[in-house]
Amino acid sequence: MNGTIPRKAAYDVVVIGGGPAGTAAATFLQRAGHDCLVLEGSRFPRYHIGESLIPHTFGTLERLGLLPKLEKSDFPVKHSVRFVRPSGEEADPFYFSETIEGPRARTWQVERSRFDQMCAANARESGVEICEGTRAGRVLFDGEQAVGVQVRTNGDAPRSIAARVVVDASGRATVLGNQLKLKERVPDLRKASLWTYCRGGYRRSGIDAGETTIFMKKNRGWFWYIPLPDDIVSVGVVDEPEILFSGIRTRMQPGAHGEDSSHVVGTTEHDGQRALEKIWVDEVDRALPLARWLENAEKVAPVRGIRELAYLNRQTVGPGWVMVGDAAGFLDPIYSSGLYLALASAELAAGCIDEGLRSGDLSARRLGAFCGPLWDGVDVIWRLIHAFYEPSFSFRRFVERFPEYRGTLIDCLVGDVVHKDMSGFLEALATMVEPPRRLKEVAVA
Ligand SMILES: Cc1cc2nc3c(=O)[nH]c(=O)nc-3n(C[C@H](O)[C@H](O)[C@H](O)COP(=O)(O)OP(=O)(O)OC[C@H]3O[C@@H](n4cnc5c(N)ncnc54)[C@H](O)[C@@H]3O)c2cc1C
Repeated sequence: MNGTIPRKAAYDVVVIGGGPAGTAAATFLQRAGHDCLVLEGSRFPRYHIGESLIPHTFGTLERLGLLPKLEKSDFPVKHSVRFVRPSGEEADPFYFSETIEGPRARTWQVERSRFDQMCAANARESGVEICEGTRAGRVLFDGEQAVGVQVRTNGDAPRSIAARVVVDASGRATVLGNQLKLKERVPDLRKASLWTYCRGGYRRSGIDAGETTIFMKKNRGWFWYIPLPDDIVSVGVVDEPEILFSGIRTRMQPGAHGEDSSHVVGTTEHDGQRALEKIWVDEVDRALPLARWLENAEKVAPVRGIRELAYLNRQTVGPGWVMVGDAAGFLDPIYSSGLYLALASAELAAGCIDEGLRSGDLSARRLGAFCGPLWDGVDVIWRLIHAFYEPSFSFRRFVERFPEYRGTLIDCLVGDVVHKDMSGFLEALATMVEPPRRLKEVAVA
């Protein structure tokens, strides 16, 4: 692939990765008057998993100027989430309008290739330089201070690009996490996923047409069913690796540039891919209510998968460097919080980087001032993920016992968790499920 060579040898900020987190951080910083370069290993439009937004992304999307583009798009509008029990019995949907008024009570199911391209175009319109097909190699350090990035293009010798601040937004590739050996598994959260795309599956109508439906398996595994444009649905299953990858010994094959394990397409061996396809068919056949929705559907993509979904970095900021989005960590897709956290962390980080650049204080303390509130919010999501997978726990029973917290539960489902006092809700939750270890102690130095 022919990569684009950066125009200059030095920038205020170099961002590794042109996904939603990277382009959002760069857009905010460029508009604040800082010279930004984004290095993106792929070329847009490129495939990515993670299609369902949650309403609390609204503010960041609005400030980025993306709302008019989303309003004009054919992305299905999402007003709710609904759970379906293994028996097929449907719970009442959680409509976001129960706790949010007006246009913020809905969001979109996005085709990521087009959404991410839209985010990148928007960054360019703000003056950000984006080099596509250009991979970042190592981050360069002077002592502990990040001072630039090594860039590889077209098989040429690596060149060094200087930066006052390096933002790692490389997603699951976690460039800095790997380089500094900061990446860790999340205790007690071992989940895998397989997914594909189908055309012609069942679709609801009216306000429910864009709903995310979660089909529960008997063992706490679950499927997502996300309507996309052109009569396509994204369907995926999340369960333990031993269940979804049983008998598959081959290593997963990374995406075209080896940069992002979420671009995985099948396995390195034909037989491995065949095995994945078979596991997928068996999984859907066993999930009768879902199988019925897919009865007349045609599968239009290979089965893709990730064996270990969750990871976190022990440290997510340092002198002259910051991680945002999936580069900092990823937990689980159950509440569709990934894109929200990518955009929110990018915006919060951009605010701190802007202050740091203006004041000349690029210490970890200054750049990481957003981490406390952000990780408190992530901890709330973590508590809910942990509760979801606890066999003795049920949200229905929780809401029956604590009806006063149904609204707070919906706040969590829409992503309204940062800068919020959730202590009463969490105490109520703790009466029904033992809290896990706080992530903040794991993730922030
Ligand atoms: C199975 C699954 C289901 C999910 N479902 C949802 C969902 O429904 N809703 C939701 O909100 N989230 C979901 N997510 C999470 C969501 O996909 C991520 O949280 C989101 O994409 C994070 O955005 P990002 O910008 O941080 O990273 P990414 O979108 O991954 O972007 C990172 C970019 O960095 C580039 N890159 C990597 N390495 C380099 C390098 N060395 N040099 C240059 N560029 C590089 C990559 O090419 C990529 O474009 C899901 C995730 C998984 C695994």
